[in-house]
This record gives sequence, C-alpha cells and structure tokens, in this order.
Amino acid sequence: MNRFEELYQNLKKEQVQLQRELEQLRDEMKLAGEGREGSPFGKREEEATEASELERNLILQSRLEDALAEVEHAIRKYEAGTYGICDLCGGAIALARLEALPQASLCLECKACQTKNGRNKSVR
Ligand SMILES: [Zn+2]
Repeated sequence: MNRFEELYQNLKKEQVQLQRELEQLRDEMKLAGEGREGSPFGKREEEATEASELERNLILQSRLEDALAEVEHAIRKYEAGTYGICDLCGGAIALARLEALPQASLCLECKACQTKNGRNKSVR
C-alpha cells in the first residue's frame, strides 16, 4: 500500500465518522423541534435556551458539512488520480501537508493566498 492509499483509507474513515456525526446531530435537532411543538405552554426562558442551542447546532451542522465536503472532494480526487495535486496551480502538495491534513486540496502557497483573499470577502 503506498502512502496516498493509506491517506485515502483514512479519508474514507473520516467520511463515515462525519456522516455519522451529522446524522446524530440532525436527529437531535429533529427531536428538539418535535419537543417544542408538543409543549405550547413553554416558558419564555426555556424557549430562549432552545433557540440558542438550535443556533449552536446549526453552526455545528454547517461545520460538519464543510468538513465532509472537503473530505469527499479529496476522495474524488484520489479516485480521479489527481490526489496530492493542487486544485489551483496544478503543483504537487507537499506530502508533509497531506500527512497533517489528508483532505488538503491546495498547496501551501495557494492556501495562504486564498485565506488572504477570503478574509476580505467574508467580512460582513
Ligand atoms: Zn497551488
């Protein structure tokens, strides 16, 4: 088994793990929603707590979805034979970087560039 294949196997495990966490979270949110419908006389404070918990769960959900999308992107790259190649410049991604972050799809230079540009764009 070569190193990329090992990383690919790790990514597959990560994918299953993330999918499981997302499923759990969605179930919890569904249950919480049903619970609220079932108790029309809930107190104001309880509602506020539930709302912020829902907000936290939504943030967590979108983080998990992002992480899953990255992992799946890397899996598709491996299957297409382009794993370890930067999406932007087409150069090789350092193996040390892939070892630390198997779902990395950009080389360090492009990542640094994207982070710099992205920061300006994401300011609300
Ligand atoms: Zn690059």
